[in-house]
Amino acid sequence: MKNNSLQHMSERIKQAVNKIENRQLAQDLWYILGERHFEGFLPHFVVNHFCAKYHLTDKEFALISLPISACYANTGVSHFNVGAIARGESGNFYFGANQEFCATNIQQTIHAEQSAISHAWIRGETKLTDITVNYTPCGHCRQFMNELNSAETLKIHLPHSQNNSLHQYLPDSFGPQNLDIDNRLFDKKENGLRFSTEDPVIQAALEAANRSHAPYSNSFSGIALQLQDKRIFQGSYAENAAFNPSLPALQTALNYLLLSGNEVENIERAVLIEHPMSLSYRAMAEDLLAYLVENVTLEYISL
Ligand SMILES: [Zn+2]
Repeated sequence: MKNNSLQHMSERIKQAVNKIENRQLAQDLWYILGERHFEGFLPHFVVNHFCAKYHLTDKEFALISLPISACYANTGVSHFNVGAIARGESGNFYFGANQEFCATNIQQTIHAEQSAISHAWIRGETKLTDITVNYTPCGHCRQFMNELNSAETLKIHLPHSQNNSLHQYLPDSFGPQNLDIDNRLFDKKENGLRFSTEDPVIQAALEAANRSHAPYSNSFSGIALQLQDKRIFQGSYAENAAFNPSLPALQTALNYLLLSGNEVENIERAVLIEHPMSLSYRAMAEDLLAYLVENVTLEYISL
């Protein structure tokens, strides 16, 4: 994880792009990614441009782009790179990859599908239509996807098998409906937390907490990470009906930062805001942050 510099990332992407058969497409993609500072995000107009120019469906283009999304993986434990691409209703592509953190507990891990999905969510997408992934989704991710407001219509594509529904992977599922929860992940939220401040990092954490999905515990939480160049990355807690596949706010923020082509070493401030009804992620966040960055203490506000 600590060697994940932008230069290293661009080197990895260059190697992946070089393996694309269509050389012209590879060259175009390399140019676009470089121009966009290697963020793992392709807006709909870029996707449409590639599909029109190379006579591809967006599903085919996602399959071609998968090895690039896998370049964002940090696999200090498994050495097994998984890449995923979430396609939003907007037509945007959001890349994702597994993020593993050594020297802490395995529960801090982010799976590739969680990475792509939370990336799309934090960027403001309101519904997903497709998930493309280079290996068959594990049980944890099948359950994570069952929380989506598009769980019933989502299409899952793999290199060897396309157009599968989530329910093919998760028959007789347990999900929000079993707990009488209507508000799903990606549905609009306003959790009603209030805190008066002029501090932009605290304001960002508050906004993230107000957008968090925690219908089972009502323990809303959000985090804001500020880099040395003052850019702020938000993360919101994404709770799951089966509890353990839930993704904490620090994970969604770190994932957003990494998938945007940035480095965790540049984090200067971290603010966690929680409404800790029955749960708290404070200790877990402090533990991971202490491993990732030196001399940054988690600022904590309980509302
Ligand atoms: Zn998984």
